[in-house]
Amino acid sequence: MSDQTDVDTFPDTTLIELTAGVVQSYLTNNQMQPDQVPHLMQQVHDKFAHLQAGQGTADTSTTADTSEPQHEPPVKPRNSVRKNDVVCLECGKTFQTLKRHIRTEHGMDESAYKARWDLPASMKLVAKSYSEKRSQMAKDLGLGENSAGRGRKKQ
Ligand SMILES: [Zn+2]
Repeated sequence: MSDQTDVDTFPDTTLIELTAGVVQSYLTNNQMQPDQVPHLMQQVHDKFAHLQAGQGTADTSTTADTSEPQHEPPVKPRNSVRKNDVVCLECGKTFQTLKRHIRTEHGMDESAYKARWDLPASMKLVAKSYSEKRSQMAKDLGLGENSAGRGRKKQ
């Protein structure tokens, strides 16, 4: 039975005293705006609280998540392209094609948007029915069979 658990565990009054002491000695050596002092105290207090909790090495875990999306997407990113519309993962609005919207509304090009939401580069940000319609239109316009008129060889 070893009880070394309270070796690192200061009572909270000590934490405040430590904080006050550090801040006080900081202020004797540094000019500081009065409205910055609470912020400094908070920082110092957090630091001690952090050390007290024995998590000194895990310091990055609280602030290193900047690559994560800042809010929950309205649907799963991979399910955002649907039959009749595409959901904008930024604002939840739906469109037939997203490319122009994300550029004008969110200032992102398609690749930035895909990178942000971890979407495959090959994914089309176009409603499935819309892209079918487009290819049907292309066929109707004869774009799919442009070799029809070429038959005569000049000899
Ligand atoms: Zn949007």
